[in-house]
Amino acid sequence: MAVDVLAIGAHMGDEVAWGMALAALRRQGASIGLLHLTPGEKGHKTMPPEQYAEQKRREAEACAEALGAEMWALDYRDGELAATDEVKHRVAAVLREARPKLAITHWKGSIHKDHAAAHELLPDARFYAGLPAFPGEHPPHWVGRVLYGENWEDNRGFVPEVFLELLEEDLEAWERAMRCYALFRGEVSPFRYLDYYRALVRARGLEAMREHCCAFAVPPDQHRRVVRSLLE
Ligand SMILES: [Zn+2]
Repeated sequence: MAVDVLAIGAHMGDEVAWGMALAALRRQGASIGLLHLTPGEKGHKTMPPEQYAEQKRREAEACAEALGAEMWALDYRDGELAATDEVKHRVAAVLREARPKLAITHWKGSIHKDHAAAHELLPDARFYAGLPAFPGEHPPHWVGRVLYGENWEDNRGFVPEVFLELLEEDLEAWERAMRCYALFRGEVSPFRYLDYYRALVRARGLEAMREHCCAFAVPPDQHRRVVRSLLE
């Protein structure tokens, strides 16, 4: 079940932020995967968390299918995700199974502690996945590249540096997939997610002299380049 790109979200539904990019990657022929660390089950004002978790799992599966993505889900609880070694090793096990060239996750400047934890745990999970000395069911795998998605909850200090051009069909594929969630149909929260992200990718597109773009922040180590000449 190897994929080219694995998007790691703290909650089922966080793929709303990078789903357009995943749709574009899929259109370009890449295989894509989603890893959810918790169901995000505490976000409903009236439904008990256990019941909402069941609903979110069904919605997440339908969304992944609509995007054409493989899906992995860990069973941590919403609001209780921590960047512990145990979680890092479980994420590393998924990285070894999914073998992505690129991992996408949250930017660190988040108002949600689970998003910050997802950001924090990835470097060590990547290290554990890549190092042969750590035992595991699947062979070691080094994730070559990491990017941070632009999420409305994670925008403190977010600097967009990589812009992926989107086509209208990517936006349509994303919206069809996101509507698998009651949350994005406006049935759970008054926040207008679909309008927000459509406006965001339009603004990023205009910044990049395109119609629509999905923007990403870049880890510091990926700024480093070794060149033969400063004039190349
Ligand atoms: Zn979230």
